[in-house]
Amino acid sequence: MNFGLSNEQEMIVSTIRAFVENEIYPHENEVERTGHVPDNIARDIRRKTIELGFYACNFPESVGGGGLSHLDFALVERELGRGSMALTHFFGRPQNILMACRGEQIERYLHPAVRGERMDALAMTEPDAGSDIRSMNCTASRHNGEWVINGTKHFISGADQADFFIVFVATGQDETEKGLKKRITAFLVDRGTPGFTVRDGYQSVSHRGYPNMVLDFDDCHLPDAQVLGEVDGGFAVMNEWLYATRLTVAAMAVGRARRAFELALNHAAERRQFGQPIGRFQGIAFPLADMITEIDAADWLTLSAAWRLDQGLPANREIASAKLYATEMLAKVTDAAIQIFGGMGLMSDLPLERFWRDARVERIWDGTSEIQRHIIGRDLLRPLGA
Ligand SMILES: Cc1cc2nc3c(=O)[nH]c(=O)nc-3n(C[C@H](O)[C@H](O)[C@H](O)COP(=O)(O)OP(=O)(O)OC[C@H]3O[C@@H](n4cnc5c(N)ncnc54)[C@H](O)[C@@H]3O)c2cc1C
Repeated sequence: MNFGLSNEQEMIVSTIRAFVENEIYPHENEVERTGHVPDNIARDIRRKTIELGFYACNFPESVGGGGLSHLDFALVERELGRGSMALTHFFGRPQNILMACRGEQIERYLHPAVRGERMDALAMTEPDAGSDIRSMNCTASRHNGEWVINGTKHFISGADQADFFIVFVATGQDETEKGLKKRITAFLVDRGTPGFTVRDGYQSVSHRGYPNMVLDFDDCHLPDAQVLGEVDGGFAVMNEWLYATRLTVAAMAVGRARRAFELALNHAAERRQFGQPIGRFQGIAFPLADMITEIDAADWLTLSAAWRLDQGLPANREIASAKLYATEMLAKVTDAAIQIFGGMGLMSDLPLERFWRDARVERIWDGTSEIQRHIIGRDLLRPLGA
């Protein structure tokens, strides 16, 4: 076993760390204050990411991407996690499900997304179908040789910026032993397609400036060319491409927790009360000890799950464990960091109250903590016939 990073990996980490510190941190307060990323800053981040050679670094070189391994990409996400999500969104990492593009879809969607010319968003969740994705009510039916989509998606991140959307829709249902089971198909839908509108979503406590939107489909006609993957093959493309995205949530949680920890550690060393640094009190040093232990544990869980993916080993349970543990760790670490700062920890002069708010959504999106536990439990018990 080798627990160290290669020289190349160390370079990836230091390059992205410097990018986040120089190009993301300076704009964070403005985004927090206004709840918006100005267009010129968004353009700048995208351009500099392209110049750095890291735009679409999660895509293979064969399609023009950076060709990073899962482990290297986890290191990138870990460093990006230190910065505001609203801003790092423009350090583009398109949905890798676009690798399912075929024929002319490659030139219309995959290549422009990888080049940073068109942005994508992914839409599965509906008001009545969250964790239980298969229960979705958004449907596509056949009419005069075309698909006609009707229904609503909500909570869709990045939809304000997206030029096109990868939308999962029910295209039929089968009678099974366990009752009716919906068949799902993925579609590529361009912004501006008649019958398709994008509107403002809800105000969220987490990630200001990274809004979630609502998508409405009202007799939206699409040709067969817009099907991504196979008709009724939505779960196949989802399972092939999307399950690893939970690792990015874990990696970002580790990066953000480490930034919060570093602030707390320095404060514990500098802040004096009762004639000594507060870090000399066990009541402060012990939480710091717990924080770093849990951050390191989450880091290793995340990197080892990424390593398993690179080795072609089964990693579903390990990814679920990393997502579960890292996001729950982030909540504890940001809370403890605020406690170490006392009252100032809650003030928006420091980024801690933001990290604390932002941490909340990480246990919900990309599969809630309960769903991750469900995946882990199923993986353990199924081989035993339970
Ligand atoms: C800010 C934000 C951005 C998002 N961005 C996107 C996006 O870009 N695209 C997209 O498609 N979706 C997105 N989502 C949706 C997100 O993935 C869902 O919110 C998540 O999957 C949970 O669904 P739900 O909110 O409907 O909760 P529900 O599924 O209704 O769950 C409610 C509660 O019940 C629990 N629960 C449900 N089923 C089980 C079970 N079997 N066992 C135990 N407990 C269970 C859940 O864990 C949760 O605690 C986003 C959500 C948020 C909040």
